[in-house]
Amino acid sequence: MLEFTHGIRSDEDEAEYQTWLRNHPHGIVVNLKAGYQNQLTKHRPHCPTISRDLASIGREEREGKLCFENRNEVERYAEEHTEFPAANLNPCGRCWNKPLSR
Ligand SMILES: [Zn+2]
Repeated sequence: MLEFTHGIRSDEDEAEYQTWLRNHPHGIVVNLKAGYQNQLTKHRPHCPTISRDLASIGREEREGKLCFENRNEVERYAEEHTEFPAANLNPCGRCWNKPLSR
């Protein structure tokens, strides 16, 4: 997995993040900023809300993310980080359980 707990910056780790997204089309990306109903949201790597290149949206940084290869890795992480709500992640309405579109 890759951890970007303090956010992702265009001049630091955006390239590493984008490479990971491309290389893990079936991965799970958890956004660390609480959203809907104060839950953390889980995305697929192809989701436009987390994968648009920062430069193309006119931003220099994005919120913290955890990038997991699969569900087992999410569960392993949750065992080591008891504050992580692995069983209560909000599935993104844009990408979860939707086929790859690119
Ligand atoms: Zn999504």
